[in-house]
Amino acid sequence: MAFEGLADKLSAAFKRLKSKGKLSEPDIKEAMREIRLALLEADVNYKVAKEFTAKVSERAVGQDVMESLTPAQMVVKIVNEELTALMGSDAARLATASTPPTVIMLCGLQGAGKTTHGGKLALMLKKQGHRPLLVAADIYRPAAIKQLQVVGEKAGVPVFEQGTEKPVKICRAAVKHAKDYGNDIVLIDTAGRLQIDEVLMDELKEIKAAVQPQEILLVVDAMTGQEAVNVSKTFDDLLEITGVILTKLDGDTRGGAALSVRSVTGKPIKFVGVGEKQEDLEVFHPDRMASRILGMGDVLTLIEEAQSKIDQKEAEKLSKKMLENKLDFNDLLAQFQQVKKMGPLKNVLSKFPGMDKQLKDVDIDDRIMDRTAAIILSMTKEEREKPALINPSRKRRIAAGSGMKVEDVNRLLKQLDQMQKMMKQMGGKSMKRRMRMPF
Ligand code: GDP
Repeated sequence: MAFEGLADKLSAAFKRLKSKGKLSEPDIKEAMREIRLALLEADVNYKVAKEFTAKVSERAVGQDVMESLTPAQMVVKIVNEELTALMGSDAARLATASTPPTVIMLCGLQGAGKTTHGGKLALMLKKQGHRPLLVAADIYRPAAIKQLQVVGEKAGVPVFEQGTEKPVKICRAAVKHAKDYGNDIVLIDTAGRLQIDEVLMDELKEIKAAVQPQEILLVVDAMTGQEAVNVSKTFDDLLEITGVILTKLDGDTRGGAALSVRSVTGKPIKFVGVGEKQEDLEVFHPDRMASRILGMGDVLTLIEEAQSKIDQKEAEKLSKKMLENKLDFNDLLAQFQQVKKMGPLKNVLSKFPGMDKQLKDVDIDDRIMDRTAAIILSMTKEEREKPALINPSRKRRIAAGSGMKVEDVNRLLKQLDQMQKMMKQMGGKSMKRRMRMPF
């Protein structure tokens, strides 16, 4: 995940402050110097880093902080607030047209992730109940139309194309098509270039004038650091963008782009790409990102992911069974499948406060769940419901069937037994009352 280096350095600076108790002005000055260096090393724009520490130190040198009982914590709080403000405070919403369709132009350099993010955005909007239409307006790269068609099919969203017709004509026709067929959002995948050039910009301006988009989202690659910020600035100067989609934030990026784009361009980051899969798109919440950078976790995003990816009815059924102490292997299997929907375990765990750092060098083997699931799948339906039936000869059969050892089967049986015992201890009337269950 991005920001690891920055998070480490900030936490080291805070640790030194905490060890001091009361703070003097030189203490704060020294801490600000460390924070500024940490920001610069994370590839934050020089001017942005300087202004940021000036703002934090102005607030931190105030009486309230220096004389408070926990001055270091107050500094962390100020840094958190200022980081949030730097990235734009509130999550920016997509603008909508007063009469549909809403037109969104996706622009950016080649390889930034434009087509991929067209698909991600289409899927997200579709899940929200919209009827998006993807438009293939990149007529120069031979495989571009095909790529968008594949992306559209994966998202279950139609793709409008007219081969190598003039892009501006394609876009006009696409908007008309959307009106005729009831698509309320038009997502235009425009052509990319390796570098910004005049011909490309003129084409984008022409499309903009023809379809008057509500949103012009610039797709930039977070891995390119300050270059992403420069590209954003140039596109904004020439085309006046409405926001940025920052991609590849799952990679080894130092995070500088995320922290500088807003301040340099005045335009918000609206979404971030956090992987190659179509679900790997997040609405950008500056406050949550600040918490992640400061190692405070991002439980809100985790809850939202769980809500959107986990079947709520299944979850309720499971908790009811747990309360009644009727947990069996079928439930365990169902639970594995639910957890797997949330992506790699390491990603899930890293959103808990303090975990991101602890997990840094830890390898979590997602196959543990698969192996356990294989054992359960080798059991008969009866055995899964009544584990007591599993005698030594059945254990041998299950182990052979799943390619595991009898010890592994024994361990799993013991785990279920322990879970049941635990539920029994916690359960009964008091638990039901605590959880206000209606039965
Ligand atoms: P375009 O030329 O701007 O349309 O770029 P593409 O959509 O073809 O993406 C270029 C490459 O970046 C592809 O290999 C994508 O799989 C990859 N990619 C795009 N977005 C992300 C992301 O958020 N994370 C990661 N890890 N890879 C991404």
